Amino acid sequence: MNDEANAWLNPDVVLAALNAAASQDAGAVREVLQKARELKGLTLGEVAVLSRIESAELMQELFDTACHVKEQIYGRRMVMFAPLYISNICGNECVYCAFRSTNKALPRNALNMEQIRRETAQLIEQGHKRLLLVAGEGYPASRGGFNYILDAIQAIYQVAEARGTIRRVNVNVAPLEIDQYRALHDAGIGTYQLFQETYHRPTYAAVHLSGAKKDFDWRVSAMDRAMQAGIDDVGIGVLFGLADWRFDLLSMMQHIAHLEERFGVGCHTVSVPRMEPAAGAPMSERPPAAVSDLDFKKIVAILRVAVPYTGIIMSTRESAQMRRETYALGVSQVSAGSRTDPGGYTDEGSSGAAAGQFQLGDHRSLEEVVAELASLNYIPSFCTACYRLGRTGQDFMDIAKPGLIRLKCDPNAVTTFQEYLIDFADSATRQQGEEAIATQLAAMEPKACRASERMLGKIRAGKRDVYC
Ligand code: SAM
Ligand code: SF4
Repeated sequence: MNDEANAWLNPDVVLAALNAAASQDAGAVREVLQKARELKGLTLGEVAVLSRIESAELMQELFDTACHVKEQIYGRRMVMFAPLYISNICGNECVYCAFRSTNKALPRNALNMEQIRRETAQLIEQGHKRLLLVAGEGYPASRGGFNYILDAIQAIYQVAEARGTIRRVNVNVAPLEIDQYRALHDAGIGTYQLFQETYHRPTYAAVHLSGAKKDFDWRVSAMDRAMQAGIDDVGIGVLFGLADWRFDLLSMMQHIAHLEERFGVGCHTVSVPRMEPAAGAPMSERPPAAVSDLDFKKIVAILRVAVPYTGIIMSTRESAQMRRETYALGVSQVSAGSRTDPGGYTDEGSSGAAAGQFQLGDHRSLEEVVAELASLNYIPSFCTACYRLGRTGQDFMDIAKPGLIRLKCDPNAVTTFQEYLIDFADSATRQQGEEAIATQLAAMEPKACRASERMLGKIRAGKRDVYC
């Protein structure tokens, strides 16, 4: 893959947009915010204008607009998931990551299928229905090479506990060939995630010192191959802290525009990982382009208004406080109770947090996060309906863009939450959750409310996995 093949990524256009936006006045910002309220997304130039906001007054207007967009499209629901790290063996030298190949102090481990099944069972027992499978790059031959990933997905889906199963496995693994993506698709994955880390080529070269990941173009073209292979829900992201966040945000807009243009649908999710300290990776202690808390919130808000129908994922890298503050600004999916050391949920084969990828900011259990969300009148959603009904890619966007998806999502959120409350929650959380459901029903459109009542009736009568 040469540079020309990725010509859609154009740093000159990004820099020109940022320069042009540097001299915009408050009127230009307000015009963009007005347009954002139409829920049709924003252009690169408009994103550049918002990225230049400095005054507290305009920042508040941006946050208010993001809240409005979030409320219009996502209402109060918040999708829950947990990462499942199956291997910390890695052949790459990403200087910010504890799994980097020359970090000899890190205890290495690639879980076997039995261990993966036990980890999965443990997550099911917490109440999870969606997992994100994560691994370092370079799957040991003793585990079957790339087939290791396929076997792991199959193993996860096979686990059936009395209180449920995992209904959707998303995957975050290194770039693959088209045939391998086809195999991932056939294995029944939900979203394929891959973070570019940074779109700034010189920074990328400076922090990826060896291994397959050194090849910027191979990585930046991965989503094209995934989509060519039939995976139509893809998730992108930037590791904030590596390069200037404005540059990376605008470049990510180019990536989304390219996928939209070529495949008719952009990305399903955007993740916003911010660099955290990682053992044995000194660079992570001093990110070269550290992003302040205020800029981080600004990034979430800008993304919300720029790509309104794209899910925004907030991991447990961030503190409980920061996560709370970004819920209203546009986050639509959160992880909870996460461990980044393979075997960490069962403590089997794990060497503890010392084998983890980076320091976590939020150590609360799924139940604690769920209880807090409910107390803030959010509806934690364990819904996996779209993917199981084939409502992915273009089909999803066709329903989402005219605003019809809430007729599905709102009922599915309350019913999956009700299922969680009955099967997993203690009495205090259950009470809190039932109150949040009642508040949500009262605020729903009559049609969605009737559908919810019907489905809730089935759940309360003992039926499970009810969705529309
Ligand atoms: N190894 C694959 C790869 O690099 O694409 C799979 C994902 S890797 C285990 C998950 C993500 O963790 C990386 O894409 C990177 O953005 C993020 N990450 C690595 N080091 C980090 C750190 N110190 N703080 C926060 N996130 C980090
Ligand atoms: Fe390996 Fe991914 Fe960590 Fe890089 S970020 S060292 S590829 S696990």
